[in-house]
Amino acid sequence: MPGEPFDQRDGRIWYDGNLVEWSGVTLHVLSHALHYASAVFEGERVYGGRIFKLTEHTRRLFHSAKTLDMKIPYSVEDIDSACEETVQANNIVDGYVRPIAWRGSEMMGVSAQDAFIHLAIATWEWPSYFDPAERLKGIRLMMSPWRRPAPDTIPCDTKSAGLYMICTLSKHEAERTGYADSLMLDYRGQVSEATGANVFFIRDGVIHTPTPDCFLDGITRRTVIYLAGRCGFEVVERAIMPEEMANFSECFLTGTAVEVTPVSQIGEYSFTPGCITETLMDKYLTEVQPESDATAAAE
Ligand code: PMP
Repeated sequence: MPGEPFDQRDGRIWYDGNLVEWSGVTLHVLSHALHYASAVFEGERVYGGRIFKLTEHTRRLFHSAKTLDMKIPYSVEDIDSACEETVQANNIVDGYVRPIAWRGSEMMGVSAQDAFIHLAIATWEWPSYFDPAERLKGIRLMMSPWRRPAPDTIPCDTKSAGLYMICTLSKHEAERTGYADSLMLDYRGQVSEATGANVFFIRDGVIHTPTPDCFLDGITRRTVIYLAGRCGFEVVERAIMPEEMANFSECFLTGTAVEVTPVSQIGEYSFTPGCITETLMDKYLTEVQPESDATAAAE
């Protein structure tokens, strides 16, 4: 069952430079973004009133926009402040932040050189309900029939709307057949990622994760690699073939939304969430707290 529709909530949205009433935000049906997927966005989490790795997310938003030939009419600092202002204006303590930039309705056609680049930021409460025992049971994934495309077929290192077409299709099929998510292979048949999260595997105490050469190198992924290193675990980034999944004992996903989520099954392969996964879940949850991030920055 869907919750409260997203266009009928209370609060304020930062829209092209101003905080406006949530219900007053509109988008014309002839917006270029709606027809041609010219939109880039971010997904950020607020922990204890503070956005985790805010500037990294904002920089990625600008990278995505630049790659899509969209010039955001603000600076990274402006958008960092705007995200913080929006979180404060909505009194969000533990939540989610969604900045999005898109081409407007000045031009309707494939070419939109002079279309205005809009930017909006919305935020909502979304606590991380963390019951380690429950989470350690792991989630089940199916194998997606869709493949991550090659780098010369789509701007694959961006967080842009067009890349999510196959993610939504994969996730729908997974949910319809009783799975939580879906694992996608890439155009070469190598393991890539889930529909909105990166994937890690463990074998004989060593952590393995696919090299992000055709999918998003997640901010959580990088944080977990850093934390694993700090714990003394070896992390190997390499090409992983799907058959190798038979030999891994643990598996988990990483992402802003899923944080560190253990996986118990991918298609025909089973995993038993164990102590490395548990340690990283725990370290990540500590790392995102406002106090610990400030400590890490000072290190
Ligand atoms: N891959 C995809 C397709 C995603 O949507 C996300 C979520 N942004 C990730 C990976 C993980 O990225 P991050 O850790 O930066 O949230």
